[in-house]
Amino acid sequence: MSLNRRDFFKYAGTSAAGVAVGARGLDLAPVEAAATTLRIKEAKVAHSVCPYCAVGCGQLVYAKDGKIVDIEGDPDTPHTLGRLCPKGAATIQLSNNPLRPTKALYRAPGSDKWEEKPLDWMYDQIAKRYHDTREKHFIEKEKGKDGREITVNRLEAIASLGSACIDNEECYLLTKFNRLLGLVYHEHQARI
Ligand code: SF4
Repeated sequence: MSLNRRDFFKYAGTSAAGVAVGARGLDLAPVEAAATTLRIKEAKVAHSVCPYCAVGCGQLVYAKDGKIVDIEGDPDTPHTLGRLCPKGAATIQLSNNPLRPTKALYRAPGSDKWEEKPLDWMYDQIAKRYHDTREKHFIEKEKGKDGREITVNRLEAIASLGSACIDNEECYLLTKFNRLLGLVYHEHQARI
């Protein structure tokens, strides 16, 4: 008998109802059999925190044979009581999604093809483009309404769009980095 965890709880709930109406000698064998097929059976559990946003929902991360097999909300978290939003509930895909790209892909300007590139090459490109664009377009001073020059130290030629897949600390660092360079167009995917 192969049941997933949700089926197991449904079955267990139905069985409990059977007990409530007075059945004696209830056969628990199917429930016990189902329990042996639970995905998290014999998995090691670790307490963690959802990496995505500042709500900081607690998670239970189950691992077996060096692989994460399940991530659930931690019922001991006082402000969530075990709940996760849809994004947090899908955290397991950070580790186990076979569709997740694992190589750096580059599409040259005007091209319709993606090519694999080494990660170091990507970092160099990003650094070079940031640097060159800033050198060319950085605005140090501009005229105020009264005609007097004021210091603005602003860069309008680069826009930064944070990803929903970067965590709190990465968001913090990206914001600091962008502000340091003078970027004003700084947004997050979740807000657009
Ligand atoms: S589960 Fe949702 S609300 Fe909670 S920390 Fe993760 S992203 Fe934020």
